[in-house]
Amino acid sequence: MADDLVQFEKAGDEAQVEPGPGDTAAGSAPNATALISDIHANLEALTTVLADIEKRGISRILCLGDIIGYGPDPCACIDLVAQKCEWALMGNHDFAVLYEPTSFNPSAESAAFWTRQQFELEKDPVARRKRWEYLGNLKIRERIGNALYVHASPRRPINEYIFPDDVITAPSKMAQIFDRIEHRCFVGHTHVAGVFTDEPDFYPPADLDGTYHFSEREKCIINPGSVGQPRDRDPRASYAVLFPDRVEFVRIAYDIQAVIDKVKKIDDLSDFLGLRLLEGR
Ligand code: ZN
Repeated sequence: MADDLVQFEKAGDEAQVEPGPGDTAAGSAPNATALISDIHANLEALTTVLADIEKRGISRILCLGDIIGYGPDPCACIDLVAQKCEWALMGNHDFAVLYEPTSFNPSAESAAFWTRQQFELEKDPVARRKRWEYLGNLKIRERIGNALYVHASPRRPINEYIFPDDVITAPSKMAQIFDRIEHRCFVGHTHVAGVFTDEPDFYPPADLDGTYHFSEREKCIINPGSVGQPRDRDPRASYAVLFPDRVEFVRIAYDIQAVIDKVKKIDDLSDFLGLRLLEGR
């Protein structure tokens, strides 16, 4: 069964490699910024996404948080994000490892404590201190021009979920959130890629042919999806490429089975945390 899924993913990946409007033949994309989020200590997904970003000639990378939690490679993922990203935001899982996991389900809580232990087990005191400092210095929010960047929402930057269903079931919540946005906002947290507009409406990347063009008349909230634990039924790693006039969504297959095998070997990480990756949920 696992083999079938790998086949399916590779086929999907080839479709993704078709040159898009964001691709540049010269291998340099000075106007492009890669947005990554919710890596969740999934090193296989992160290295695959970083290689894809490099292949596109993009050198500026921003991370919307949740570098760690759930997955088997927290130290390597923190080190890579620290090395490759211009900055990263504080996600609820980063916060939980740094301080305390509150209102986490048992498998997320156990993963948070296990993750903290991995940081503490580092034998090199300099590397250990550097990781804790990096985690402690993650930004809560960042503003660039008329764009706001938070892990979760403008109201509660670390914790509030903005779900696609909210545009139907919670229009006043959406109105209050859009009130706090000048024009554009970039969030992660739900692990579901797509664009919210201030109608309010939600558009998954498939409904946009993978590209959303900014409009002066329309406020938007953009979620690049999750690198390391997608939850929109597409198991491929998700990220986005931001241009001055648009955002392009990217999906890319990676070696999920390698992550499942690592998770299975770690008692404190529930097997489900690996297996869910196959289904993208
Ligand atoms: Zn997350």
